[in-house]
Amino acid sequence: MKIKLEEKFAEQYHQNADAVYFTPGRVNLIGEHIDYNGGLVMPCAITLGTWIAIAPNNDNKFRFKSLNFDAQAEVESNKTHEKNGSLWANYPIGVINEFIKDGKEINGFDFLYYGNIPIGSGLSSSASIEIATAFALNSYINLGYDNLELVKIAKRVENDFIGLNSGIMDQFAVAFGEKDKAIVLDCETLKYKMVDVDLGNYVLAIINTNKPRELADSKYNERVEECQTALKLLNEEITLHNLCELTAEKFALHSHLIADETVLNRATHVVKENDRVHLAAKALNAGNLEEFGRLMYASHQSLKELYEVSGKELDAVVDFCSTYNHVIGARMTGAGFGGCAIALLEKGYEEDFAKQLTDYYVDKIGYPAAIYVSEIGNGPTKL
Ligand code: ADP
Ligand code: MG
Repeated sequence: MKIKLEEKFAEQYHQNADAVYFTPGRVNLIGEHIDYNGGLVMPCAITLGTWIAIAPNNDNKFRFKSLNFDAQAEVESNKTHEKNGSLWANYPIGVINEFIKDGKEINGFDFLYYGNIPIGSGLSSSASIEIATAFALNSYINLGYDNLELVKIAKRVENDFIGLNSGIMDQFAVAFGEKDKAIVLDCETLKYKMVDVDLGNYVLAIINTNKPRELADSKYNERVEECQTALKLLNEEITLHNLCELTAEKFALHSHLIADETVLNRATHVVKENDRVHLAAKALNAGNLEEFGRLMYASHQSLKELYEVSGKELDAVVDFCSTYNHVIGARMTGAGFGGCAIALLEKGYEEDFAKQLTDYYVDKIGYPAAIYVSEIGNGPTKL
């Protein structure tokens, strides 16, 4: 990939690329819609990701091209504060703008991207392109940021420049991922632990429903608001900064304050999902993959019924998995409403699983899903 990107860079920019970097995407193994509630999540980096080739130019312009999109962008180096409609290049422009706001002097650069993460499918291609840009510039010009600072900068881009009220998980997972490890991240304190993931006789299957997440952003922001409403109501009786400070038992003592059934369901999901992450970490530490798989199914059920962020496509995948003998756990991952599900699949059954799931899914949904087998990979690297 490195060589192909360097060739394309030379073709497109009539100068050679100076450096090439890789940044992964991520899946969240468990702990969904928790990060903006200050709880525990358990993501890992995957071996699908984004490659970026860069070289400085003398034109005081930033140029952005991607092998994944026809649209290109060219921005004067003093105009990075202006958003360009819904153009993909807003992600890297936003990152550069944060650096400049922070007093760094960055003049012209040419950028070329390529990603093999299915885009807009919940595997965080957006965090991947943000961190790819931030990591590349930080390394290349020696801006002096540490990884956590890059994560915070990328999150600000997603929140303030792009306009999605997402938590910190995606950027964190992409920047801190390590091969064969999951990150147990406390989204409130940003304390984290790496947990060994020994999948033994299983592989991580990623199933893209190929359902575009059209409504995802507005529904996502709606869920954030519903959680804030629950928090406000609970604060009439106890002092809480976020819902995940409550265990399920403590929550039961105060949940009568939430009269609205929908809001109650949302809060119930959050509190119980947070408990499940604790249990999942224990299960991994004990090498108990069956228990981990059961928690995955329970997580999906809760996201479907209480949080209402699944959909018939994701449910079809997880329903199939629950009847397939060689899968021990499956759930939707990411924001939901489409996007991807993950499954723990017994080694050796990859082909059979793909074939049977495809038949089932096409019959139910009308078009095929895409199935990947991924490994748990490393964070950003210079190639
Ligand atoms: P997700 O993060 O789940 O993949 P998002 O909607 O949050 O979905 O982010 C996807 C957007 O990120 C794309 O529409 C595009 O704007 C940008 N993006 C991601 N990868 C690339 C890439 N390789 N080249 C250009 N833009 C990309
Ligand atoms: Mg995203």
